[in-house]
Amino acid sequence: MPDKVLSPVYKRVLLKMSGEALMGNGPQAIDTDTVLRIVNEVVQVYRHGVQVGIVIGGGNFFRGAQLSELGINRITGDHMGMLATLMNSLAMRDAFERLDLPVRVLSAIPMSGVVDLFNRRKAIHHLESGRVVIFAAGTGNPLVTTDSAASLRGIEVSADAVLKATNVEGVFDKDPSLHADASLYRELSYTEALSKELKVMDLAAFCQCRDHQMPLRVFNIHKPGALLRVVQGEREGTLVQ
Ligand code: UDP
Repeated sequence: MPDKVLSPVYKRVLLKMSGEALMGNGPQAIDTDTVLRIVNEVVQVYRHGVQVGIVIGGGNFFRGAQLSELGINRITGDHMGMLATLMNSLAMRDAFERLDLPVRVLSAIPMSGVVDLFNRRKAIHHLESGRVVIFAAGTGNPLVTTDSAASLRGIEVSADAVLKATNVEGVFDKDPSLHADASLYRELSYTEALSKELKVMDLAAFCQCRDHQMPLRVFNIHKPGALLRVVQGEREGTLVQ
C-alpha cells in the first residue's frame, strides 16, 4: 500500500545537523551506514517536493573552542573546524549520489576542484532546480559555530524554517538524559525560550532567527520518519516561533 501522502507545510527548509550525527557507535568519525540512514530520511522529504538545504557541523572531528584548550590558536582551530564540516559534507554528498539524488556542495571557503564556492543566487537556483544543497565550511568566519551558518543560510535562501536535528525529541525543560521527569515543549515563543534559558541553539544564531522571524523546529533525526512528519506539519519535536 502506498504511504499516506500529506502535503508538506514547508516548501523550502534548512536542515542543521551536528557532525556527531554522522558517528555510529563505533570509533569512526563518519559511519557510512549512519550517513546513509540520515540521507534516506532527507530523501523521503525531497520526494514530497520539499527543497532541502543542509548545514552540517564538524564536531565529530574538530571544534575550535576545544582545540584552543589543547593549545592550538583559536582562529586556526576554527579554520580546522570549518574544514571538518567540509569533509562531512563530502561524505553526505557521496551518500546522496549513491542514491542518485541531485546534490551540490557549496562551500564558504574556496576549495576549487573539490566543491563550488557559496553563492546565494546559485544556491537558490540549485534548490529551485530540484537539487539538495549542502552548505559547507560554516559561515567561513571564525568564532561562531555552524548554528550561525544554519540561521544565516536559512535566511539567505528564504527557507520557511530551520530544522535543527538533534538526538533527543526536542526542547525539554531540563536535560532528559539526566532527568527522567523532563518534559518536552511542543511550542515556544522566542521570548519564552530566552527567558527560560532553554538551549535551542547558539545564542547568536537563535537571536538572528528571532530577528528575522525564522521558525525553528528541533526534532530527533535518529527517529525514523520524524523529519517527514515535521515537514508535513505533524506533531513532532518542538516549534519555536
Ligand atoms: N566553525 C567556525 N565558523 C563557522 C562554523 C564553524 O569557526 O561559521 C568552526 C568552529 O570551531 C566549530 C567547528 O567549526 O566549533 C565545528 O562546527 P560546530 O561546532 O558547529 O559542529 P557541530 O557541533 O555542529 O558538529
